[in-house]
Amino acid sequence: MFRSAMRRLLDSSRVPSSVMYVVRRLQEAGYAAFLVGGCVRDIYLGSLPHDWDVATDARPEAVRRLFPRTHDVGARFGTVGVIPPEAARDEAVGSVEVTTFRKDLGYQDGRRPTQVSFGASIEEDLARRDFTMNAVAWNPAAGAVVDPFHGLSDIEAGLIRAVGDPTVRFREDALRMLRAVRFSSQLGFTIDPDTWTAIEREAHRVQQLSSERIRDELLRLLETDRAGEGLWVLHELGLMRYCLPELQGTFRMAQGKPGAPTLLAHLIQTVDACPPDPVLRLAALFHDVGKLTTRAVTPEGRVIFHGHEKASAEVALRACRRLRMPKRETCRIVELVRMHMVFGEEVGKKAVRRWVAANGEDWVRDLILLRRADHVASGGDPGDNPFADRLERLLDEVVAEGSAFTVRDLAIGGREVMAATGLAPGPKVGEVLQRLLERVLEAPELNEEKRLIELAREIAAELD
Ligand code: ATP
Ligand code: MG
Repeated sequence: MFRSAMRRLLDSSRVPSSVMYVVRRLQEAGYAAFLVGGCVRDIYLGSLPHDWDVATDARPEAVRRLFPRTHDVGARFGTVGVIPPEAARDEAVGSVEVTTFRKDLGYQDGRRPTQVSFGASIEEDLARRDFTMNAVAWNPAAGAVVDPFHGLSDIEAGLIRAVGDPTVRFREDALRMLRAVRFSSQLGFTIDPDTWTAIEREAHRVQQLSSERIRDELLRLLETDRAGEGLWVLHELGLMRYCLPELQGTFRMAQGKPGAPTLLAHLIQTVDACPPDPVLRLAALFHDVGKLTTRAVTPEGRVIFHGHEKASAEVALRACRRLRMPKRETCRIVELVRMHMVFGEEVGKKAVRRWVAANGEDWVRDLILLRRADHVASGGDPGDNPFADRLERLLDEVVAEGSAFTVRDLAIGGREVMAATGLAPGPKVGEVLQRLLERVLEAPELNEEKRLIELAREIAAELD
């Protein structure tokens, strides 16, 4: 075991008072308490941890007794969320997760452990963790570090190295392979050669993971500053075919875009040219995938991809369903992909109003961002994108008009429609309102009580 004071680099003044309170309270009650995992790694790197994990030999029941306000995070795995009392709380930290030292037993099919056993030591607890950089324990109250796997020196070297035999560890839980890639992207670290080789060999085990776990890791990768690099690493390790099978073939497809010899390169460059919003970037990743199935050569010898945006949207829909993306995000992504080519002089305010009505202002902003990213990834000059500029102007104008985009924004409601038309409550009232909205989207000046009542009468007469 390796213990030393690392006060200079692991600076306890950077630990929020609420976290310090939890550590001290456990220690005062006679228990061991260490900060572990990502927060130690992040403090050592000088960055701000986004969550705080404490490891202790106190059992979950004892933790619950010590702190008046707790919530269950994963009782079965020994994790209790502690909400520090008002006095010790600071804004940056909501709850602190306190986990009992444990050993993981009985991994099944490369998924999470089926059973855990408490009563382990801190060293045993560190040994079950995924990477050396995440397997350092730090007692900030005493300035003591437990670092049996030399995690601190790996952090300094920027290395992602599995704790123990990488092959065994990836067979226990295949998600660790995706975490390695996500961390490499998030931290700009390199995957250690032995760990790399083991991932190449075990990559196929990603198939055993639930879609939700794959999705969450992919989304986290996509929101990093080096998402493109991470996607290339996924590809090189042979993981991509299991977590993004829809992209199979894109690496072999030549694409005459400057700087992007293959379709995969173009997709990845488009991802990188988007701001770090994982939903927008997922749309970017699929936006041209339909080129795989729509490629054709004209009699003049020109390569075209007629209708590729529709084909891409179908693939994106399949991918989102496979990844169990929530419905709202799925619609957003599929519509972005489907619409990424509708640009041209014919797009005017009416079209923009319809888009805002159908998908919301934010979606149209995302469409513009995707357009700009695609342009840059196709070798275009970012400062020279007149269509995106025009669309942005139109959108600003349309939003500033404050016109109606939904039935609720109309100057009259169902009651007024019924009074004006004599219609009884029922689906016809809704239909009249919907048609009124259509008219207002064409001509916002119609959104006025008197004019809408007149129009409602006309529409109701037509419906009869
Ligand atoms: P971040 O929160 O920035 O994603 P993190 O390292 O804190 O990074 P968490 O998912 O919050 O990651 O997990 C906390 C700790 O739990 C990790 O640092 C690691 O020690 C351990 N851990 C998490 N997932 C696994 C896993 N699949 N296998 C082994 N250990 C894991
Ligand atoms: Mg964490």
